[in-house]
Amino acid sequence: MNLPRFTYHSPDSLKKCIAILADQKNGAQVLAGGSDLLVRMKLRLETPGSLVSLADIPALQDIAYRPGKGLTMGAGITLSLLASDAIIQERCPALADAAVLVATNQIRTVATVGGNILQNTRCRYYNRSPVWGKAVAPCFKRNGAICHVVPKGKRCFAVYQGDLAPLLIALNTTVTIVSKKGTEEIPVESLYSGDGKVPFNNVAGTIATGFTIPEDSLNMRAAYRKYRLRGGIDFPLAGVAAALKPGNGLVEDLKLCLTGVASRPVTVPGAGEAAKGKPLSRELAREVGRLAYAAAHPLANLEGDPATRRSMIRIMTEDILTSFIS
Ligand SMILES: Cc1cc2nc3c(=O)[nH]c(=O)nc-3n(C[C@H](O)[C@H](O)[C@H](O)COP(=O)(O)OP(=O)(O)OC[C@H]3O[C@@H](n4cnc5c(N)ncnc54)[C@H](O)[C@@H]3O)c2cc1C
Repeated sequence: MNLPRFTYHSPDSLKKCIAILADQKNGAQVLAGGSDLLVRMKLRLETPGSLVSLADIPALQDIAYRPGKGLTMGAGITLSLLASDAIIQERCPALADAAVLVATNQIRTVATVGGNILQNTRCRYYNRSPVWGKAVAPCFKRNGAICHVVPKGKRCFAVYQGDLAPLLIALNTTVTIVSKKGTEEIPVESLYSGDGKVPFNNVAGTIATGFTIPEDSLNMRAAYRKYRLRGGIDFPLAGVAAALKPGNGLVEDLKLCLTGVASRPVTVPGAGEAAKGKPLSRELAREVGRLAYAAAHPLANLEGDPATRRSMIRIMTEDILTSFIS
């Protein structure tokens, strides 16, 4: 399938990048590895007039650990580098492990961290060819007024299926955003709107330049588990990330975040309160697994049975917490 026509820009500084993006008349969009965006363009789900490549901006390629501040990663680093970098492996091995679970080896060599976090939501009734799109009534995500998944639904329920966001959110990671208004650092969690049609808050004309995992979070036990049909390539049909702070044999803090079960990553309510001050045990793992199950509401908009995906959330949660016991 061919790409639609667009103008390609390859600025060598953030300033030039922002200036091109600010000219929204031609619908300029950021291009990182292109493994999400170019596929969407080929399917004519998106037809931006111009693409602004981040490839020539060296500031987006750094990985550094600074005592007291934490671990910083440029948004432009590839998932292959994330998986193999010595600093990441030493300071946050769970992130290196999660990166390896994304897509395929070939895709990970171009796919970036920023693109992974900001990838669009997906639905089996939406990620289809233009021919298919003409054969059925347009849904909310195709600028129509119906949902094929929830017939009386009032909004789009397309699913967020990024693998890295739940782990970064569980680790209280912040993202640095640059726009013509200046620079701000916000929690990764606050990027997501929860609406499948427009899944991000205020990202037009902005660039995510990097991510910071705070020092405190680097001392937590963390892990990510993913359920998918084909181990070598597929998006998560359900995913769980956990970050646990142990202290004197009792849990001091616990944060759980899910992917593949809603239009945004879902932080499990009550998990921290349920675990705080208790010894980590199989019983606690089961209790928190039930909370994760209650927070997950997958619909029939991806491959796989929603009930199975929901059960997998509970099973993977228990599995992660049990693996932390020793
Ligand atoms: C076959 C296949 C399998 C896949 N499997 C998985 C999977 O298992 N798990 C998973 O999580 N993903 C998967 N993906 C999706 C995708 O490959 C990854 O999410 C990848 O990390 C996207 O990164 P990218 O650099 O290619 O993003 P791009 O496609 O370049 O960009 C994605 C979106 O983010 C925006 N963007 C990118 N970088 C920035 C930035 N720095 N600032 C602001 N906006 C930005 C772009 O404008 C675009 O809207 C798969 C894709 C394919 C084709």
